[in-house]
Amino acid sequence: MSSSTGPAGGRPPAGALPSAGALPSAEREQRPTVGLDIGGTKTLAALLAPDGTVLAQARLGTERGPDGVVAVAARAVQGVVRQAGLDVAALDGIGVGVPGLVGYDEGTVSHAVNLGIEGAPLPLARRLGDALDVGVVVDNDLNVAALGAAHLAPGAATRPLDLAFLALGTGLAAGLVLDGVVRRGTGAAGEIGHVPVDPAGPPCPCGQRGCLELYASGTAVDRLWPATSGRPAPVELFEAAAAGDPVAVAAQATYADAVAAAVRMLVLSVDVRHVVLGGGVAQLGAPLLDAVRAALARQAEASPFLASLTMADRVLLAPGHVPVAAVGAAVLARTPRAGGS
Ligand SMILES: [Zn+2]
Repeated sequence: MSSSTGPAGGRPPAGALPSAGALPSAEREQRPTVGLDIGGTKTLAALLAPDGTVLAQARLGTERGPDGVVAVAARAVQGVVRQAGLDVAALDGIGVGVPGLVGYDEGTVSHAVNLGIEGAPLPLARRLGDALDVGVVVDNDLNVAALGAAHLAPGAATRPLDLAFLALGTGLAAGLVLDGVVRRGTGAAGEIGHVPVDPAGPPCPCGQRGCLELYASGTAVDRLWPATSGRPAPVELFEAAAAGDPVAVAAQATYADAVAAAVRMLVLSVDVRHVVLGGGVAQLGAPLLDAVRAALARQAEASPFLASLTMADRVLLAPGHVPVAAVGAAVLARTPRAGGS
């Protein structure tokens, strides 16, 4: 377990989102909120000031199972609040992003295998709320990542945004913020990883063939360029390509084309202003952004229509130094909710 870093700061790398921003809000709350991003290995926390600034952030090792998840979540909130010299009682609310199946209205999570939550749904909002005596709202991790990215995006302070957060991880899916509001639907919004792009392609675990996820996820890189040194396959692939290995250069272009296809799908379906690349593969940073932008530019060469949509300019990187999903969860905690918990 580790605890880290005080106030967020520093200059983000080129093409990355800045570290502070503010969504316009008609009912801006006057007290800070805390957001949590609970993942399989770590629980990230961010304390958000009423003006949208990230005041403090913390990181703890996640403990599997319902009791462990709740206990670490409570400690993460207390830790980040303490860093800023505040008390939990000073909070307006807590937002939590989790993987798995989320009952947004009920504040429950189930089928979160990575967190050791299986069987009966965990009433996370109620249990964490009881432990800290603060209102808690729970949402899907991709939804809060999209909210966080929208909060940090250029221009967020002046108007509601249309933005997609494209997670390139084990799978492939997007969180969507449209007109400043998370698109939840019935749970299928943004599941573009399972749009088939090659009817003759390999079978997908979802039962279809040739799904986009098989070409554009992090797992797809493992197949294109199996790792040999124990480091992540995307790191090895991009290093080999940068060193001029012609096979790696071709494989990197193939992968970038697939990610570009995901970007195109998002822009052509809901015309998002920004597509923010996140997930494990995005830790590659600028080389990934450059490769995807180059792929989009190549694809636009033959199509004045695509060129007119300036897709390469719409792609951004999730900032590496700010816990985007935790920030988004803190933004979610500001949202006035009927009932509450
Ligand atoms: Zn599929």
